Amino acid sequence: MSVERAVELGCDSMQIFGRNPRSWRFDPVPSDEVSLFRQKRSFAGIWPVVIHSTYLINLSSPDETNFAKSVELFKNELMTAEELGADYLVTHLGSPHELGEEFARKRVLDALRDVSASTWGRKTMILFENTAGGGSSFGSDLGALGALIRKARGLKLETGLCFDTCHAFAAGYPMATDADIERLLSSIEKEVGIENLKVIHLNDSRGEMGSRLDRHEHIGKGRIGLPAFRLFLNRPEIREVPMILETPKKTPEDDPMNIRVVRGMMKKRKKN
Ligand code: ZN
Ligand code: MN
Ligand code: MN
Repeated sequence: MSVERAVELGCDSMQIFGRNPRSWRFDPVPSDEVSLFRQKRSFAGIWPVVIHSTYLINLSSPDETNFAKSVELFKNELMTAEELGADYLVTHLGSPHELGEEFARKRVLDALRDVSASTWGRKTMILFENTAGGGSSFGSDLGALGALIRKARGLKLETGLCFDTCHAFAAGYPMATDADIERLLSSIEKEVGIENLKVIHLNDSRGEMGSRLDRHEHIGKGRIGLPAFRLFLNRPEIREVPMILETPKKTPEDDPMNIRVVRGMMKKRKKN
């Protein structure tokens, strides 16, 4: 089970799917599984528990039926997340296809209005993940995500940012030099507010900077590379932000290897 795996790897945070991420079918988690998960998680002292929403959900969908289905499933996922005691539900913002960003913004707000009218979304916080911007996907721009977080607050929903390093790099945010990292973090601060950055997805990128390719790579083996990660990981602004690896998992050695690489790069803090 996922909690055991997290403990085995020495993790203090974890991310799971609440359900089959590639199916529209919604099956509530049986109550005995819910209580077992809650028990194990609290015994292991894991924080945060992050749930990643289904890839099929399109909160910017131009198609009415697909949009309604997406909002419905999203609310169900939020319900599951709250039952499991998850701290965050991460979602991508989908694609408005040819209708463009303005339309997407309105659509996502409609979805949030619907969520806000339900009782869900108060215990588990919704996090918007920045995307690589491929196709006509919405949400690669930090400014757009920040604006959405502020609008959600107007709907009485506290939301936040899940920042994916691979997606940001592929979307055209450079990360090679100290100055790049400085610029990146100040745009997070300016556009989103660093206090709204709740989770980091730590992934290297197979695609070039600005390629809009969403292809994850082992830390240090992609186009972002080790020196950039070393700079990023040691920035004081993000030291306390929970980090989750979504690097390739082809063998059981892959996760421990990436964790070692990341921990090895982080300078030890002085105990006081
Ligand atoms: Zn994601
Ligand atoms: Mn991600
Ligand atoms: Mn990705």
